Amino acid sequence: MKITIYAILLLSTLTACAQKPSTGVPTNGNPSNFDLSAYPKASDTVQKSDAAWRAMLSPAAYDVLRNAGTEQPFTGALLNEHEHGIFTCAACGNPLFSSDTKFESGTGWPSFWAPIEPGRVIQKTDNTFGMSRTEILCARCGSHLGHVFDDGPQPTGLRYCMNSVALGFDKK
Ligand SMILES: [Zn+2]
Repeated sequence: MKITIYAILLLSTLTACAQKPSTGVPTNGNPSNFDLSAYPKASDTVQKSDAAWRAMLSPAAYDVLRNAGTEQPFTGALLNEHEHGIFTCAACGNPLFSSDTKFESGTGWPSFWAPIEPGRVIQKTDNTFGMSRTEILCARCGSHLGHVFDDGPQPTGLRYCMNSVALGFDKK
């Protein structure tokens, strides 16, 4: 009997951990209503050759943005950025996250609970390193930004775990 209960508990734990972050939950990722009209639209896509990206980006930014690398935790310049403003894609300037949704995750990477606007980032299943994770890409230029996990705070329960070097910041 005990074993059965234990097995059920274990199974439900495993199932909970395997759940993919939910999408499509209507959430306002722009509580301050930052005006995004001066920014390019996500549909205004950017395509450059690998050589052009290499010439434009620092080696560290290139490794993350164009090679899906991960920066060392607790090293990013924007990890402790607490000013009011908009976090953008370091490769193309696409507005990605409002400072209103940034929170202290303790992971060592800048963390947000929602993108600033639907369609600014895209999700992709990432099965590298023997894990099933959900990769987050810039919808405008396709650059790798980080991953999303379902252990974030309310209202979404999501944690967009971003590489600082993949982001820019526009203070408002
Ligand atoms: Zn971009």
